[in-house]
Formats: sequence, structure tokens, C-alpha cells
Amino acid sequence: LQNHPLVHGGGGASLADGTAVQLLANIGGAQDALVAEAAHADGVGLFRTEFLFLDRESAPGVQEQAEASGAVFSRFPGRKVVVRTLDAGADKPLPFLVAGPEPNPALGVRAYRTSWERPSVLTDQLDAIAVAAAAAQAEVWVMAPMISTVEDTEDFVALCRARGLGPAGIMVETPSAAITADRHLAACDFASIGTNDLTQYTMAADRQLGALAHLNTPWQPAVLALVRSTCEGARRVGEGPTVDSAVADKPVGVCGEAAGDPALAVVLGGLGVSSLSMAPRSLPLVAAVLASVTMEQAKELAARALAARTAAECRDAVRAGLPILGDLG
Ligand code: PEP
Ligand code: MG
Repeated sequence: LQNHPLVHGGGGASLADGTAVQLLANIGGAQDALVAEAAHADGVGLFRTEFLFLDRESAPGVQEQAEASGAVFSRFPGRKVVVRTLDAGADKPLPFLVAGPEPNPALGVRAYRTSWERPSVLTDQLDAIAVAAAAAQAEVWVMAPMISTVEDTEDFVALCRARGLGPAGIMVETPSAAITADRHLAACDFASIGTNDLTQYTMAADRQLGALAHLNTPWQPAVLALVRSTCEGARRVGEGPTVDSAVADKPVGVCGEAAGDPALAVVLGGLGVSSLSMAPRSLPLVAAVLASVTMEQAKELAARALAARTAAECRDAVRAGLPILGDLG
């Protein structure tokens, strides 16, 4: 497929009418950064920082964390690298941080929530990112996972600002954040939708249970309705009575698995998502399929997807409108 004439070699993408869509890579460290660089990613849309913390009895020190972040940042001079703060718990257990056992770990004190009781792990991490960012040429963005209230967003942004870090944003992984995205985005700089968790929480279906795989798909119309809600919230930011009317739209990206599905990528673009972050190997095909549609067509396909009754009908309706998928085999 990489050699197919319709598939250009990864990197930045635009729709057929020239509308730009940033194509970014999901990475877990410096090794992955090399792969992302080779795939001509526009940058990194999700730098998962958990790996440095796994299989340890305590958190790594600020210096070690700064070096690990610096090794990634140095691969992307002048380009965006979105660092996600620690996402421990549920599918990523971390015994020294996550209180356990909990009856429902996916609904427990995980991810950003661990900082309520143990703020030093998060503040050390932000200190380390700030040290690495100050020494790097990359454009460093920072975001927190599993945010559900505006208080969380405000607190996280304050911690970032105090260290000169920014843009500071949130992952939209809970229905609450998607539904109240306008208020979250009035308090932060950007949102990145984690469709893996957003699907799990919208469908009330554990993402680790194979028996629920048919529920755990971002083709579920309810999930796409929450993507729309997030994008609409980002557009409303400048319009409310309580916010500065000069504030421009805030950027919304997607960094869950959905971003790497070419047909879904078109739908997400049509809903207003301006950057897609995925496994580097998915970049060329997503770029090719995006280039085959105009924004008007992407919006039309998004409208079809939102109107679908079921996940299967949603996927079939969109795929039927993308003949290039057949051409690409
Ligand atoms: C997501 O939930 O979509 C996401 C990108 O984060 P993770 O898969 O690491 O939970
Ligand atoms: Mg997640």
C-alpha cells in the first residue's frame, strides 16, 4: 500500500480543496520518535509518558524525566509535540501511585485524578517538561488525561502557566468533558479527544473486554455526537457572554485509534477536528483518503454518520461515500 500511486509519503495533509489537517504521531518515547520522524509526521499529537514510570517502585526524578522528554523534543525542532501527563490506572496500573484495589478501576482514582491526593508526581513531571521545553526547539504543548470537571481543567492550566508551560489543554475522554467542552475550552488552550476512553465511557463498555468489542467502536453514533459537541464547544468559546469575544476558536484534535481509520478521519475532519494523531504507519493512507474529499464532502459524510442508527450503518454509509477506499484496496 505504501507504494500505491494514490498514497503520498505521509506528513502534512490537506483536503482536496486545500483545507489543512495536521497529521501527527502517537509515541511513547525516543525510539518511537524516530519512527514518527521517518514517517514525516507533522509532529507528535500524543506523547504517552507512562512508560518511564512502569515497573518501578517510585517515580523517576525530575532530571531523568527531563532527559527522557528532551530526547523526544530534539527530534522535532520547530514542530509541535503534545505531551500527555501521567495516565496511570485502569489499563495502565502503577502500584506506587494508584490506590487499590478499587471495585471499578476504570472509574476510579486514575490519570489526572491521582494528583488530587499526590500532587508532587504531577508537579515534578511538569517541572521536568518545563526544563526540557526550555532547552528544546520543539513547540511543546501539554495536556492532562481523564479530565471530567472544569475545576480540574482550571487547576491543571494554573500549574502549567506557573511554569511557563503552554499551550495547556485537556484530553476529552469523558462524556462530561465533551458535553461541557465550551466551558473547558474557555479555561484552556486546546482539546484532544481520546476516542478510546471516550468510547468506553460513552458506551459503558470496558475497553479491555473482548466480549464488548462491538460496543467499543468509535463508529457508534453516540460517540461521534460527543465529538461534534466538543468541536461545537470549541467554536462557542468566543461567543459566550462571560468570555472575551475576541478569543478565537480553540483547536480540537483526536488522538485515539479513530484518528488512524481513514474513513473516520474524514468524518472527524468534517466535524471540525483540525489535527489527527495516530500510529505512524497509518499516516500515509489517512493522508491519501483526506486528499480525496473537499471540506464540503467531509461535512456531508459527517452529517450522514451522525444521522445513522447503528455503528454498522454509520460505517457503511461513510465508506459508501468514499470510493477511494475501494481503489486503495
Ligand atoms: C484514548 O483514550 O483515546 C487515548 C488516546 O489514550 P489511551 O489510549 O492512552 O488511554
Ligand atoms: Mg485514554
